[in-house]
Amino acid sequence: MNGRESGGADMPVKNETSTRFMDEIRIISPWAFSFVILGFLTAIAAVVNATLSGKPPMPLAAMVPLAIVGGTILGCYILLIGYVNRDAGRRGMSRLAWTLLAILIPNALGIVLYFVLRKPRIATCPQCGAPLEPGFGFCPGCRYRLNPLCPKCQRAVHAGDKFCPYCGGDLGAGANEVVDGAGSAGKSSGF
Ligand SMILES: [Zn+2]
Ligand SMILES: [Zn+2]
Repeated sequence: MNGRESGGADMPVKNETSTRFMDEIRIISPWAFSFVILGFLTAIAAVVNATLSGKPPMPLAAMVPLAIVGGTILGCYILLIGYVNRDAGRRGMSRLAWTLLAILIPNALGIVLYFVLRKPRIATCPQCGAPLEPGFGFCPGCRYRLNPLCPKCQRAVHAGDKFCPYCGGDLGAGANEVVDGAGSAGKSSGF
């Protein structure tokens, strides 16, 4: 009973945004998803129960969509709480306090408050977990390459840049490539 199989074909456009979104989804702990399923089952059980009781408060045709909509809203709410629970930890904020606020403040205002007040995320090295500051080209802990480098001046540039913002060097298609810092002359054109 899996109704959330969204298109399997991957889209090359906006790929970066969608992977980032998936990364955000992935931090939600599995228990949150179990609660969502539980919420849906409760809604279905309520419909079945009301129908079997012989005196349904409203016709079945109205109850089923209501249960689906209600279950979806409840599910999103639970997933957001699960997200707050994990995301707060990534940002050095109290997970317990913010999870409780998200649950206890009515009308999802605790969640809204969280998104307004949350601190910027502490970036960490994907390889060793060392804290990183913006602009770093390499991890200070393990020398993991964080950004593509300008082959001319060795400063970190953004993937997709055409020219180096520091020295004006032509990055061409090279901004996406990993250029070895030791042998910067390796890929230079003749001249
Ligand atoms: Zn590292
Ligand atoms: Zn440069």
